[in-house]
Amino acid sequence: MDTIRRCLRAGILLLAVLLSLAQPDPGYAQARGSDPQRSERPASTAFHINQQRLWDTLQKLSEFGRPPGAGFEGGVTRLGFSAEDLAARSYVAGLLRAAGLTVRVDPAGNLFARREGTENLPVLLFGSHIDSVPNGGNFDGQVGSMGALEVMRTLQERGIQTRHPLELVIWVNEEGHHFGKGVFGSAAAAGLLGTDILDRRDSDGLTLADWLRRYGQDPSKFAQAHIAPGSLAGYLELHIEQGGILDERGIPIGIVQGIVGINWWTCTAEGFANHAGTTPIDRRADAFAAAARAVLAVREEVRAGPGRQVGTVGYARVEPGARNIIPGRVEFPVELRDLDADKVARIWARIEQRFQKIALEENVKINCVPLSRDVPARTNPAFQQAIRDAARALGLPTLDLPSGAGHDAQNIAHLAPIGMIFVPSRGGISHSPREYSSPDQVASGAEVLYRSLLLLDQHLHRP
Ligand SMILES: [Zn+2]
Repeated sequence: MDTIRRCLRAGILLLAVLLSLAQPDPGYAQARGSDPQRSERPASTAFHINQQRLWDTLQKLSEFGRPPGAGFEGGVTRLGFSAEDLAARSYVAGLLRAAGLTVRVDPAGNLFARREGTENLPVLLFGSHIDSVPNGGNFDGQVGSMGALEVMRTLQERGIQTRHPLELVIWVNEEGHHFGKGVFGSAAAAGLLGTDILDRRDSDGLTLADWLRRYGQDPSKFAQAHIAPGSLAGYLELHIEQGGILDERGIPIGIVQGIVGINWWTCTAEGFANHAGTTPIDRRADAFAAAARAVLAVREEVRAGPGRQVGTVGYARVEPGARNIIPGRVEFPVELRDLDADKVARIWARIEQRFQKIALEENVKINCVPLSRDVPARTNPAFQQAIRDAARALGLPTLDLPSGAGHDAQNIAHLAPIGMIFVPSRGGISHSPREYSSPDQVASGAEVLYRSLLLLDQHLHRP
């Protein structure tokens, strides 16, 4: 039986080799021929990465966690720490080994593939994640991960020697849907997590430690996932924008200025619950009316100045919550995001002033307590420049923009300089089966990643 299978496999392989010899390299065909604009490009702007291979791999990856009966357009459910995720990671590990790289998994479940450099230098790290949200898309994280794989394959094929050792990383459980902790793997790598998180239990009664064992790891070694500061030269991540700016403006490459800080407060408006029929309209302490004015004040203060800062009140919990009772208490959150922590502090100070004025006018008390504060993570100017130079050499327009979403890079910023490349998301849609970036856009991002890495390898750690 085994012999038959082996013969069959050898036959298929031989056929594949013959077919590939008969056709021109699909990557170059795409880059040079299919698009009339590109065919007129000088040879120096031709893509080194293989666009077709990258797209094919992205499609193949989408089979892990694909809804039954759906195609590539049907999205994916591949939660961090799940059977689908584990199978996808083994598949990717196999591809990395087949490319001739040394693969290892750290005790937090992050997958690394290493390619040696010619000098004794710290590692240039690049990659992304392949887990998704429930009913997610095939591009968030996966473009950066398969783009990184394509970069490694291209370096191997072309026999390029780099000064720095290169490592590709597939972070684990970036979305954090499972176990309620986003950017989990990179947080472990940056030494930001205590071991208490291993005791968290999921709805099946399994702990995170149980899942790490399923991923072949020893949870008692969890702390060893921490990457030693100084061992990284930097980290570069390719990702879809997850917003609509690049798509709207028709710009293929975004140079991320940084990942915004996310600041959360929980506020309560305390009034007095009373009869909705017998209490005169001017003698009320209506907590919901006050909270409603507070919501609008947040928006006004965020909009009051120039910039890309955003502010949101995502819910209101109204008590007692009955049709015929004046609301006595409302809990509502305030979230502010920006690249500039000082600006956020200034906006918040103005919001609090407005809240106190509203409280006075509405005869209620408004109180806010800080819940969490993620500091902004700026990208490194040398990394931004490498991306800019790489894109310019390819004739690809760029736009500098912040990332409004969190990414693993923000954790690695605690260890080393970071850079991020964005490619357009159609309609700005993500965390949905409808998220999409075209084969050209994905390939452009991967090519810029390839060239940026080589530029950084040349320029970093020169005496
Ligand atoms: Zn992502």
